[in-house]
Formats: sequence, C-alpha cells, structure tokens
Amino acid sequence: MHRFFANTDQLVENNIEILGRDVKHIKDVLRLKPKEQIEVVIDGYVYLCEIISLEKDKVTSQIIEKHKGTNESPIHIVLYQGLAKGNKMDTIIQKCTEIGVMEFYPVALKRSVVKVKDIKKEQTKVERWNTIADEAAKQSKRDVLPKVHNIISFQEMVEILKGEKNIVVPYEEEKTSFIKGKVKLEGNKIHLIIGPEGGFEPEEINILKSIGAKTVSLGPRILRTETAGVVAATILLYEFGDLGVI
Ligand code: SAH
Repeated sequence: MHRFFANTDQLVENNIEILGRDVKHIKDVLRLKPKEQIEVVIDGYVYLCEIISLEKDKVTSQIIEKHKGTNESPIHIVLYQGLAKGNKMDTIIQKCTEIGVMEFYPVALKRSVVKVKDIKKEQTKVERWNTIADEAAKQSKRDVLPKVHNIISFQEMVEILKGEKNIVVPYEEEKTSFIKGKVKLEGNKIHLIIGPEGGFEPEEINILKSIGAKTVSLGPRILRTETAGVVAATILLYEFGDLGVI
C-alpha cells in the first residue's frame, strides 16, 4: 500500500486531498486510478483511503477507515548534525529517518568543512533534505514525517538546548563512558549531537558539558560522521525505544 503524508488542512470532511509533489507521483509514476486504495498519514494517524478523483493539481480520496499508527518509537530523537559536505547530509537524513529519528538540525560547527560564507547556499538545501525525509518516511512506513530545520549555529543550538534533559554527545575523545550506563532518560526526548568530519573542538565540548550534556563513546573505532548518527540513534532506540523489545 502506498503511503503519503498530509496536514490537517488537507482533511475536508470525509475526504483527504493530496497536493504538491505527491499528485504527480500518484498520477505519472504509480499510475493509480479511481477506486484504488492508498494510506494517508496525518499527525500519527493512518487513514485508509480510496481515490475518488484525479485532477491536475489535486488527488481526492475518501476515508474508509482510520487507526492510530503503531510504527513510531516511544522516544523522540532530535539529531543535531555537524554540517558535513557533499551529499553526506542526504545520506544521514535518509538513514536516520528510516531508523526513527524525529527531527534534524544541521549545525555549523567550528570544524565543519562547509564554511560560514557558504551557509546561505547550504540553506537552500533544506527543502531538498525535507524531500529526502519525506521519501524515506514513506518508504519505511513512518507514522510521522520527520522535520529538517534550517541550519543553525553552535550558539543557536546551545540556546535551544539550555534547560533540556537527555543531551547525548558521542565524542571521539571519550574513551570510558558509553550510552549504556551513562545515559539515564528523564522523559522521552533525547538530543543527540554528532560532530562533523573534523570532529568537535574541545571548547565546544566544554560548553555542551556546562549545560548538562553527557559525552559518550561509540566504541574504539572512529566512525565517519555519516555513520555515527545512524549508529548512535540505533543504540538509543535499542536501549530506550522500540528496537530490541518485543
Ligand atoms: N576527525 C575525527 C573524527 C570525527 S568523526 C578524528 O579523527 O578523531 C565525526 C563524529 O562522529 C565525531 O565528532 C563524533 O560525534 C562521532 N564519532 C565517530 N566515531 C566515534 C566514536 N568512536 N565514539 C564517539 N563518537 C564518535
């Protein structure tokens, strides 16, 4: 069954209207026709729908049945990813969406290869990153569409995190503390911060520690930045989420 994401304003009485890129996809790629069924997800609810009409910019479907989605983890992981170059961010967003990350903040850190003067150009990639999250979320049958926020600075990240609990920083220089043992959850939201290709500056780590962040090791081998987020999110979901429990 093909799955699409929609907003509450697309819910019109007993119908759901599909708009935007999905219209072209339904008509030209999937070639769906009236009476065929689709799943539309709005805010964690899955609506089984039947297509009733296909217009130029809109596909209208009628709701047959609604149920609460069961594919979301009980923990809400926010990934703050040190800005990485090339198409690494694409990979990170795609894989972490499949695994179950809820939100992404690309962060310009001191050792990010992407320079501050290029941030404006990078900012234009945010729309593409959201499209990647949308496609990965459909494919992996997420019940919530993860959000990729605009690129932020280290200072902006610190402002967001002040007063927050469960700040986890996999740090390449940390040798003795691991997620198991060091991270004790309070509530269900976890803030996960991953360094860029060049790693973290010690100064960044000191500031993060001063607002309560816990540094952890992901093991004796150094992972690439595009691997580290996937691995750390997997460990967190295994320890506290819905991987590894029946
Ligand atoms: N250039 C650095 C490595 C950076 S790896 C060096 O050679 O030391 C990029 C990011 O992935 C790190 O900042 C950290 O957040 C994470 N990471 C990779 N391997 C890790 C490990 N073994 N333990 C903890 N964090 C790790």
